[in-house]
Amino acid sequence: TPVIGVLALQGDVREHLVALAEADALARPVRRAEELAEVDALVIPGGESTTMSKLALLFGVMDPLRERVAAGMPVYGTCAGMIMLADKILDGRDDQETVGGIDMTVRRNAFGRQNESFESGIAFKGMDDAPVHGVFIRAPWVEAVGAGVEVLAELPAADGPDSRIVAVRQGNLLATSFHPELTGDHRVHAYFVRMVEEHLVAAAR
Ligand code: GLN
Repeated sequence: TPVIGVLALQGDVREHLVALAEADALARPVRRAEELAEVDALVIPGGESTTMSKLALLFGVMDPLRERVAAGMPVYGTCAGMIMLADKILDGRDDQETVGGIDMTVRRNAFGRQNESFESGIAFKGMDDAPVHGVFIRAPWVEAVGAGVEVLAELPAADGPDSRIVAVRQGNLLATSFHPELTGDHRVHAYFVRMVEEHLVAAAR
């Protein structure tokens, strides 16, 4: 059974711990580098990415996180966690740093004031039985992705023919604009747990 940490500096940590346990992982909070060293994988929760960035630097986990990501540790980021996994962000604060790892540009608070919160059924690649219930709270969207990034879900734009990318995967890194941990539907967490299990099997060979 994989041991999956939830970065517990700020944000909706408890909900992820519950969702991971229901997806058959051993879940535990991670605040410092020593705790990070003991997990197979990590979830970065939703919350406020500027605060999370500040606290990660303050707690000395930003660089250890970057090292683990570079070494192939699986990470799943929701909302603020998606922002943390982006190589580039738009509308961030000047001093805001990210862990990075996914070759994408993410726009913070992209869905705008009018739609600060909304819910929508999401067609998620590989989960064809039913749409994933997406809860969006001052959510970012992915504005651009590099060639190595797989788009897993898009949402039609409210104001035109475009669509907005709201879920991506690059290698062992997974990110969603929305918060599956706030719903009873833990298929995205189960998808991540499978990613972690496959990574552990491959790493043991
Ligand atoms: N707007 C937040 C940020 O920029 C993200 C919101 C969320 O995680 N629900 O960090």
